[in-house]
Amino acid sequence: MTASARLEWGTTYQVTVLELGLACCGVEVMAALDRLPDLGVTPVDGAGEAHVLVVSGTVTDVMLPAVLRSYEAMPEPRYVISVGACSNTGGPYWDSYSVTKGIDQALPVHVAVPGCPPRPEALLEGLKALHRLVNA
Ligand code: SF4
Repeated sequence: MTASARLEWGTTYQVTVLELGLACCGVEVMAALDRLPDLGVTPVDGAGEAHVLVVSGTVTDVMLPAVLRSYEAMPEPRYVISVGACSNTGGPYWDSYSVTKGIDQALPVHVAVPGCPPRPEALLEGLKALHRLVNA
């Protein structure tokens, strides 16, 4: 991606991203994070400074409360990107007694990135989709 492709988010503040990598999809997200500066967003470690929550990997019912706490700690405006089949629907584990059947059952998901796992480019496309949503 070239510098000319950098997204302008229409804000004087940094657009900050918190990644919750819960399984293998998290590895793909980490690879994509290397390119995030080109998209005008900044990875952060704390939910209190994040405007975009990226949930990737298998969300178990045991982990769900921790995901919700992260979301609740985020300042407004806040957005959620669900990455991968597991986070979107439960994926290959959709019939497991312990797996949440899609993070959208618990959070407002603004963009869902398909795949098992999605390629890093797919996350970048997801961020572009969120950019269009924010600037609509
Ligand atoms: S969607 Fe596939 S790659 Fe991603 S966490 Fe689930 S099983 Fe792993």
